[in-house]
Amino acid sequence: MASPFRLRPDRPAYARLRLVLGDQLNEQHSWFQNPDPETLYLLVEARAEQTYTLHHIRKIELFFRAMRSFGQHLQARGHAVHYLSIADPENTEASLSRTLGAVADRYGVQRIEWLLPDEYRLDRELTEWAASQSRPTATADTEHFLTRRHEVGELFGERSHWLMETFYRRMRQRLGLLLDGAGKPLGGRWNFDAENRHKPPAGTRFPPPLDFGNDYAAIRADIAAAGLPHFGRSGGIDFPTTRAQALHQLDYFIEQALPQFGRYQDAMLEGEPFLNHSLLSFALNVKLISPLEVVERCLAAYADPERQIGLAQVEGFVRQLIGWREYLRGVYWARMPDYAAGNFLHHDRPLPAWYWTGETELNCLRHALNNSLDNGFAHHIQRLMVTGNYALLAGVRPAEVNAWYLGVYVDALEWVQLPNTQGMSQYADGGLVATKPYVSSGAYLNKMSDYCRSCRYDVKQRTGPRACPFNALYWHFLDRHRERLANNQRLAMPYKTWDRMSEADRQALRAQAETWLAQEGN
Ligand code: FAD
Ligand code: SF4
Repeated sequence: MASPFRLRPDRPAYARLRLVLGDQLNEQHSWFQNPDPETLYLLVEARAEQTYTLHHIRKIELFFRAMRSFGQHLQARGHAVHYLSIADPENTEASLSRTLGAVADRYGVQRIEWLLPDEYRLDRELTEWAASQSRPTATADTEHFLTRRHEVGELFGERSHWLMETFYRRMRQRLGLLLDGAGKPLGGRWNFDAENRHKPPAGTRFPPPLDFGNDYAAIRADIAAAGLPHFGRSGGIDFPTTRAQALHQLDYFIEQALPQFGRYQDAMLEGEPFLNHSLLSFALNVKLISPLEVVERCLAAYADPERQIGLAQVEGFVRQLIGWREYLRGVYWARMPDYAAGNFLHHDRPLPAWYWTGETELNCLRHALNNSLDNGFAHHIQRLMVTGNYALLAGVRPAEVNAWYLGVYVDALEWVQLPNTQGMSQYADGGLVATKPYVSSGAYLNKMSDYCRSCRYDVKQRTGPRACPFNALYWHFLDRHRERLANNQRLAMPYKTWDRMSEADRQALRAQAETWLAQEGN
């Protein structure tokens, strides 16, 4: 059997131990600029981190590969590194904090430091552990985000709805991005979303995902040897696992996809699971690259007249990074730990078993689920308006929806997954994040995708054995939540339409949805 991946330092003792988590691989961090002979860095493929939820196999593979590369990189730059891989017989402690303590004892360390975790769970574990230590401990910022943890909470305070757009405009002004000389938004508008909802004409070409040639065989063997549970399919598309690969991915995106990024951002096509999306979320979330450098490179390309990148395209992309990403992180830190338990609509149905297999005859769901299970990835509108939409319409328990999203996507870390799922997708926070529940009937999916034309169900039918299930479920959702949602101005039109229907039609829709949920929906 091959010996497990491991890195060990030269010396038996160090004054200071610094823990680097698997999502803190920021080689530009000030910690790593000058090697210090008294400092030892610790990276751990901790079992507890692989099992706190059931993860997609690709997600585990990517994390381990990125961590191993980072450990090697640190060592090559003259830092002392102790790396514990999952298959290392010395990696036996039940938690990350216990490993930290054991490694500190082994090297006679006097002081322990770590970068502030982005996940509440780990932040609490390390904080509680530190309180039990006699050795001094300290934390440092990851130097990655553009805002402080509690900044969004401080901005919105007690307001019942935290409008992302308000935050986004402040960020544009603070960072001086896409403004004219008078501090006004370029092009006279802050947001060009209205121009970003086109369905691509037939024959539109999209850039294929890059293949970095990353080899996961040894990691796969370690995962098997360690008996780590996982789901999903191995061998999907590759993602950047080093900073050089991440920068290459960014250049490729700017060259090939940014010029059309926003235009088809909300589209969904069979055979085109990636469209013009950047595929940078894993690299960003493990901090191989920073959001600011991504934005700055995109803006430099926009400023280059030869590239002819439109304002609507670049604004749409910048908004995701300096707006949505920072804003949702702020929601998370302002509202945890209670945020995770929210269930405003009192949904209590189980997640259909076919979310874990992709075996369903609903063509839109089959594509979104199989893209997710194949690659550990689906683009935003698939997550929001297909898998999320269905779970919300069907009344699935948010905790089960969260567990699925947290496990399935390679970019899923709780600080970004949870507010997207609880807040934006499942309305489980009662409208703190979303101004209305993101639900739709089949008509929206038909407008934005080509899924319906090869579906067993007929998107135009509302009742009957071939009726698209989204249609009756949509009306059933509005009907059963009338008390909680009817005052929402953004839902005034659909409620008016429902009220204008005959009682017989309403009853038929209710019966159709209830039969579906009872017979097919699990
Ligand atoms: P692009 O479309 O190219 O966008 C560029 C970058 O903008 C992304 O890499 C990401 O960093 C950022 N971004 C875009 N939208 C969002 C958003 N809504 N929230 C935060 N950042 C955003 N994103 C995650 O990174 N991790 C998650 O676990 C996650 N879970 C999600 C769950 C649901 C239910 C929904 C609706 C969205 C979720 N997202 C999550 C947001 C978004 O879908 C992904 O960031 C995006 O699909 C990643 O692909 P990309 O890098 O090609 O993104
Ligand atoms: Fe999805 Fe309905 Fe269209 Fe089928 S007909 S792909 S179920 S929206």
